[in-house]
Amino acid sequence: MRYFGSVAFFRHLIILALLLMAVLSGKYLIDVFIRKEPPEIKKERVSDLQYDKKSLSESDGTPQNRPPSFSYQSAYSELYGAAGQERELQDGVVYLTFDDGPSKYTPAFLDLLKKHGVQATFFLVGTNVQRYPSVVRRIKSEGHAIGVHTYSHKYLQIYMNVDSYLKDFSMAKDAIYRATGDRCAIFRFPGGSINVFNSRIYGELTAEMLRRGFKFYDWNVSAGDAVKKTIKKNIIDNVANNVRRDQPNIVLMHDTSELSLTSLEQIILRLKKENYIFKALGNEDRPITFTHIK
Ligand SMILES: [Zn+2]
Repeated sequence: MRYFGSVAFFRHLIILALLLMAVLSGKYLIDVFIRKEPPEIKKERVSDLQYDKKSLSESDGTPQNRPPSFSYQSAYSELYGAAGQERELQDGVVYLTFDDGPSKYTPAFLDLLKKHGVQATFFLVGTNVQRYPSVVRRIKSEGHAIGVHTYSHKYLQIYMNVDSYLKDFSMAKDAIYRATGDRCAIFRFPGGSINVFNSRIYGELTAEMLRRGFKFYDWNVSAGDAVKKTIKKNIIDNVANNVRRDQPNIVLMHDTSELSLTSLEQIILRLKKENYIFKALGNEDRPITFTHIK
């Protein structure tokens, strides 16, 4: 019996066709699911390489040892601070700092500080400065220090990249200048200089802000007054139990609630009883900043 045309021949032909289909569809699946880069991206990479080659040949062969420069460094040409000569913060001194204001509570904070003869520092949010410009002028006229705490205070927006931070900072600094005539050189990062929102850019961002002559302050004592469902006793204890005589104490509080306000009076009274003195931060003071721990 002849093999060609026989039942066995057709059976083998079908098996062969099925095998061929399996191989081809396997190759297709590999293309779709495993190969990560579509051909178009590969093409772009090739043109990048050609571009690099071109710029290298134009640099007449000398090695490129210049420090890196980034486009944001030449942007915002007015945005420079004038932080003065460094002066050590004093051990045992309490530097009260209030973030996120001014708010409707700030005048009462100012009354309280005046009543006890205490000087403090206010890190202001630009939108609130525009809302309460006369309060900002009062903060200044009563001898307190003023720093920038961004314009929008929107973490996702300001920490998107260095340029978006600078843009926001510039607006906040301008708002304070319009209210007081002062050009701030000190500031505080929302969430502190190292936080989960800026972890990708904080090195680059702090370097750029320092290069521009601005000085930022973190804190080493936190009142925890912005913590949900906290109580007055905890706020007072968080401060009074953590200030020390062998360090400058930068205390983080907020001038945005009744609870912070009533806690503040107790904090001042308790620390005064323990003979602590209070001061405002200045452009010259060496800042306290967080240390990155890996
Ligand atoms: Zn804040």
